[in-house]
Amino acid sequence: MKVDFKKYADGLVPAIIQDYTTHKVLMLGFMNEEAYHKTETTGKVTFYSRSKKRLWTKGEESGNFLELKSVAVDCDNDTLLIKANPLGPVCHTGADTCWSERNHDEDFLFYLEDIINLRKKAAPENSYVASLFAKGINKIAQKVGEEAVEVVIEAKDKNDELFLNECADLLFHYLILLNAKGYKLQDVLYILQNRHSNK
Ligand code: AMP
Ligand code: ZN
Ligand code: ZN
Ligand code: ZN
Repeated sequence: MKVDFKKYADGLVPAIIQDYTTHKVLMLGFMNEEAYHKTETTGKVTFYSRSKKRLWTKGEESGNFLELKSVAVDCDNDTLLIKANPLGPVCHTGADTCWSERNHDEDFLFYLEDIINLRKKAAPENSYVASLFAKGINKIAQKVGEEAVEVVIEAKDKNDELFLNECADLLFHYLILLNAKGYKLQDVLYILQNRHSNK
């Protein structure tokens, strides 16, 4: 692929970073030829930081790397569109994109998924999520089963509050199981969307 790094005097081209599953625009950065090369060879999105005046691999301090999924160049080879898998919130404010508030209701499940992924790395004694991950996939799957049974039990009852809370428990542990298996909610949504469009 031809990228015209010589088009502008500073040798930088803008790179739009898009989430490869949710398609949200995550952030904008600049790449010189070296940053672009490093991105391709390491699989981690790397910019040239105009403020730091050096190569900057997104996530180098926070651990919230952007795993490279694909690169496309625009019509006149001077702007990149990069699809990536963010390993955590992309913005330094903790928000999932540089254009969003920290805790929005919309897409809350995706936000929760990010939080689970972050808590996973905490010490098991400080985090319920990390303690579940420490016990392994079988235990997590068993927990999903237990929560599902609790939903069934409460569904027969007349206490709506208990029912809704068990539904929330089930969804939460379901997200944890998906993560433990290396999948994202979007992977499941794609299957559901496919079934829908095949009808
Ligand atoms: P990180 O690359 O995530 O380890 O963050 C390192 C530093 O880069 C932060 O302290 C911020 O100064 C800056 N930074 C991180 N993420 C962004 C972003 N999305 N946009 C601009 N600056 C950022
Ligand atoms: Zn262009
Ligand atoms: Zn930001
Ligand atoms: Zn429960």
